[in-house]
Amino acid sequence: EAKKNRHQKSLFFEPSFGERLAYKVELEHEMRGAIERGEISLHYQLQKNIQTCTVVGVEALIRWNHPVLGLISPAEFIPVAEETGMIIPIGEWVFKTACLQQISWEQSGFGSLRMSVNVSPYQFQDELFVEKILHTLRETGVDPYQVTIEVTESLAIRDVEKVSMQLRLLRESGIRIAIDDFGTGYASLKYLRTFEPHLLKIDRFFVDGIDREEERGNMVRAIIAIGRSLNMEVLAEGVETEEQLQFLRTAGCDEVQGYYLSRPLPAEGVEKLLNDRTAMPGTA
Ligand code: C2E
Ligand code: MG
Ligand code: MG
Ligand code: MG
Repeated sequence: EAKKNRHQKSLFFEPSFGERLAYKVELEHEMRGAIERGEISLHYQLQKNIQTCTVVGVEALIRWNHPVLGLISPAEFIPVAEETGMIIPIGEWVFKTACLQQISWEQSGFGSLRMSVNVSPYQFQDELFVEKILHTLRETGVDPYQVTIEVTESLAIRDVEKVSMQLRLLRESGIRIAIDDFGTGYASLKYLRTFEPHLLKIDRFFVDGIDREEERGNMVRAIIAIGRSLNMEVLAEGVETEEQLQFLRTAGCDEVQGYYLSRPLPAEGVEKLLNDRTAMPGTA
């Protein structure tokens, strides 16, 4: 309880460097064994094709529920996991768990839902990264064509040659590649040439305000045009209103994701939504 209060307090008072460091060290310490203790789970957010009005897949989003510190956001602990190397076992757990969930939904008659998994740039520095992914595909028996990996444009990707080779191997296995947070990262257009993704995910920064601000709307249209001309599908993140959805549909965006359709939910929550599609806005 005492710890919890301390962190609630730090939401309102700018923590000092020392306090932040202590919190990071604490997270690092607590992260060891978090998977084994069952504190880590995946939530899933629906992805919908807005031209055909069908649910096409889900994005897996990691959650850490610590018994004392409470729910810790991935924005907080993924960077710590990256610094400490813990991202490697965590990333492996995420990928395997997501594959098993994809199969489970397929087998229980929810239809083929694509499973999109976030991969940290640091995972590409693992010499065995591709091998491990291919192993998990075989081990779980998941259809690789139903799996997407989301890569963020990042300065952490230093060896572009090596990463594009790794992505090529994954693509050849059938896995789809998505560029996440497109437009806010690093060297965007160059990445499109070298990484040849199947899907561009427009960062929610551009979606926020598209229906109010002409400039953002124009930028979204421009990104969609880039995707189109390079034969990629385009998905818009962070759709929160019907107006944004309508704008994107008219602009020719293929897919959307956002609170307007569904929050990220535990697997059972997704199943409830899929069983009652009328409860979902914009679904035929
Ligand atoms: P991301 O991959 O870009 O995921 C989208 C984030 O936006 C998620 O935050 C999601 O909950 C949030 N979001 C979705 N719809 C809306 C909306 O309509 N409005 C707003 N304001 N937000 C929305 P979350 O789950 O906190 O994850 C944050 C980031 O952490 C992710 O960004 C991703 O970069 C990273 N992350 C999450 N799970 C994993 C994972 O398993 N592995 C790795 N390496 N990174 C992960
Ligand atoms: Mg993502
Ligand atoms: Mg994103
Ligand atoms: Mg992000």
